[in-house]
Amino acid sequence: MAEKHIVIVGGGPGGLTAAMLLSHRGFKVSLFDKNSEIGGRNRGIRADGFIFDTGPTFLLMKGVLDEMFELCGRDSADYLEFMRLEPMYRLLFDDRQIQVYSDPDKMRQELRRVFPDSPADYDRFLAREDKRFRHLYPCITRDYSSLKAFFSLDLLKALPQLAVNHSVFSNLGRYFQEEKLRLIFSFQSKYLGMSPWQCPALFTMLSYLEHRYGIYHVKGGLNRISNAMAKVIEEQGGAIHRNMAVQSLIVEKGRATGVRLADGSEVTADEVIVNADFAYAMTELVEPGVLKRYSRENIGNKEYSCSTFMLYLGLDKRYDIPHHNIVFASDYKGNVDNIFSNKTLSDDFSFYVQNASVSDDSLAPAGQSTLYVLVPVPNNQSGIAWPEQLAAVREQVLDALGDRLGLDDVRDHIVYEKNITPENWQHDENVFFGATFNLSHKFSQMLYWRPHNRFEELERCYLVGGGTHPGSGLPTIYESARISANMICDKYGVEFPAIPNNDWLGPSLS
Ligand SMILES: Cc1cc2nc3c(=O)[nH]c(=O)nc-3n(C[C@H](O)[C@H](O)[C@H](O)COP(=O)(O)OP(=O)(O)OC[C@H]3O[C@@H](n4cnc5c(N)ncnc54)[C@H](O)[C@@H]3O)c2cc1C
Repeated sequence: MAEKHIVIVGGGPGGLTAAMLLSHRGFKVSLFDKNSEIGGRNRGIRADGFIFDTGPTFLLMKGVLDEMFELCGRDSADYLEFMRLEPMYRLLFDDRQIQVYSDPDKMRQELRRVFPDSPADYDRFLAREDKRFRHLYPCITRDYSSLKAFFSLDLLKALPQLAVNHSVFSNLGRYFQEEKLRLIFSFQSKYLGMSPWQCPALFTMLSYLEHRYGIYHVKGGLNRISNAMAKVIEEQGGAIHRNMAVQSLIVEKGRATGVRLADGSEVTADEVIVNADFAYAMTELVEPGVLKRYSRENIGNKEYSCSTFMLYLGLDKRYDIPHHNIVFASDYKGNVDNIFSNKTLSDDFSFYVQNASVSDDSLAPAGQSTLYVLVPVPNNQSGIAWPEQLAAVREQVLDALGDRLGLDDVRDHIVYEKNITPENWQHDENVFFGATFNLSHKFSQMLYWRPHNRFEELERCYLVGGGTHPGSGLPTIYESARISANMICDKYGVEFPAIPNNDWLGPSLS
């Protein structure tokens, strides 16, 4: 095979994984990213001796990441120092708090201690959701770019597990009665930017995966994963062009034939992979009139995830709160309704605080702390004027750090501060509507109905990242890259290990 040239638009987790796999398999790979630091939403923020992750802080399904390195003949442990967190996180309700463990004995004990009067069928949750996940995983790893691929034996086998009439919240009623107990296993819908009352039941797999396989931090932050992938790509001869924005895809007679860069130069390609946010790319990088299903008019009518307000604080004091803290609004459902239905801000809001420097001393100078605060908020379909709201929301968040986490003096110790609003996500990070977790994961926007890995509207164009199948979240994004890379290999007759070895799944619980 003459060397085929693959051009990748964007160096987020999806683009990096695709570049890693394809450069290992003998393709000439050129990746372009608009930023000076690689990683997209998974890149680092470094300032004044503090290091923060921009986005992802929970690594789930570490086995999938390991497989991507193995597929390149490498061991992830040679590039990254993984730290399994136990307890995984602390959850704070208005009247109680609970430490959440992946060790089943400790978890059973903790559930009994915090909810002495409510039966929790934790073992049945693990066994039943294990069975469901084992049926669903083959559907996550395969391509749905055609109807033939969609009607697969894997999907037929998985159909009874989809529980299409249930949400994550209602599905959990099988094991847990009390609302707060159910929230312990359903708040993870927010990882997809969705409400637990609307998120399809199959995503109960998120809490199952945490409890079964644990969650990981990476020394130096999860942004190190992006840096490690970039290192592998360059070791394999791939080219990464930082600070080089793509201005448009070059499309000739329905085929993507290359990209036009912001400086006006053109790069030709045999295949183009788009990792930039899907809806942004289709509206900003493709000439009007070229697309039909995902035309500018149609794309705005899709359903999108929520957004996030982010506060990154470098503090000249060491705080000892746990690594991950999730604080629930007193009226959790009311806050969820405001985010997703009413599209307004709430005075009583849920939020997440990461104090990673408590377990990783490389993130802050000695005796100091980094705090990462994430508040789920409506995406920009809300029309909220963030420049006007910013100061007030910041004050509310700092108050909440005091009221709910006891960090009363935090204002006195801020020596570095950065914030990201939904408007910043949209205009600085090229995220459509600032919907940080991409197209919503409702049924009608999943599998065959999600933008295909081999993009249905342009020949020679593939998608990777949270906007295509299987969806948002690091492991699923790595899978999207594997699916697209394998399809490109198929096209050119390049051999690759077709079936994931899935060793990390371990034995079934039933
Ligand atoms: C706040 C937050 C927290 C999250 N937490 C978690 C978590 O804990 N665990 C988890 O698994 N997932 C989490 N996610 C979800 C998901 O894993 C990340 O968003 C992930 O980074 C998305 O990867 P991606 O490959 O889709 O692309 P992105 O990370 O969006 O990368 C796209 C890349 O394209 C580049 N780009 C855009 N436009 C252009 C252009 N015109 N030219 C060139 N380059 C361009 C961007 O610079 C960027 O590098 C989180 C997301 C957010 C936002």
